[in-house]
Amino acid sequence: MNIYNEVKGAASIGISGHERPDGDCVGSVMGLYLYLKKACPEARVQVLLEKPADIFSCIQGIEEIHTNCTGDEVFDVFIALDAAKDRLGQAKECFDKAAKTINIDHHVTNSGCGDVNYIVPGASSTSELIYDVIEDKTLLDQEIAKALYIGIIHDTGVFQYSNTAPSTLRTAAELISYGFDFTELIEKTFYEKTYIQNQILGRALLESILFMEGKCVVSMVDKKTMNFYRAQPHDLDGIVSQLRVTKGVECAIFMYQTNTLEYKVSLRSGGSVDVAKVAEFFGGGGHTRAAGATMRGTFHDIVNNLSDRIAEQMREKQ
Ligand code: 5GP
Ligand code: MN
Repeated sequence: MNIYNEVKGAASIGISGHERPDGDCVGSVMGLYLYLKKACPEARVQVLLEKPADIFSCIQGIEEIHTNCTGDEVFDVFIALDAAKDRLGQAKECFDKAAKTINIDHHVTNSGCGDVNYIVPGASSTSELIYDVIEDKTLLDQEIAKALYIGIIHDTGVFQYSNTAPSTLRTAAELISYGFDFTELIEKTFYEKTYIQNQILGRALLESILFMEGKCVVSMVDKKTMNFYRAQPHDLDGIVSQLRVTKGVECAIFMYQTNTLEYKVSLRSGGSVDVAKVAEFFGGGGHTRAAGATMRGTFHDIVNNLSDRIAEQMREKQ
């Protein structure tokens, strides 16, 4: 795909990503936004997205994001990144109203919801895909490179996860040639935690439960605890990955309460369990080794339901 050819001539272009935007979502949305503002100076280009976490304030133009989408905005072209339209929140209505829609994503559970789709399930990140669809690399600059680099490091765990391919490292090599301080970017956006984030992490680890003979681990943070620490959902990022690296653990489950009898569930796998399949069964989605869903029921119901699906896959493998 050459994104410029797809949007050429449009007077208005909207860009959005999924709710609770993560690093790849913010990086790909902002990277594409900064590029399209340069490539299509005549067009009105707008980002409609939930407010990103403060760590992303280093990205140029982040304050220009429209965080209060009403769904009434009408665009000639609307682009959904890092998700299908069902995860865009209010912006889904703008997607449905637009004359032309484009969907760029790397989630295996997304079959493409646009008039034009660029879905590459094997790709490390949507940010890597944005680098690919910008054919005219002469318009790239340090700020676009920085945004896309943030997306790649977040979705690969700083080039650690198995989704890191030679193409990912080549793209990253091109991006750092623009000369931003990538060491600081990695430290400030990926590794640095606030005191509160570390306290909740500690508490979640302390209260975690091993099951299935040590092959699975689960932990949960309820609303009361979140309120006590004044924590936002993004303060819980990284907990599930820390649970997963427990020796012997194949599959980690972390959930936090979003409502009465409702939890946001995160799943991580070492590779033997396809957690995208597990999440999809419960109405969510994601990747083979990292997936999520919103589930209803008590903590115990949810763990039981997830365990059934995980155990089934483990039995099939034996
Ligand atoms: P996380 O556990 O970090 O929230 O998400 C892990 C992966 O699964 C991410 O790629 C995320 O986009 C995806 N994911 C998380 N929750 C959902 C969901 O409810 N539906 C879908 N389709 N994907 C999800
Ligand atoms: Mn992503």
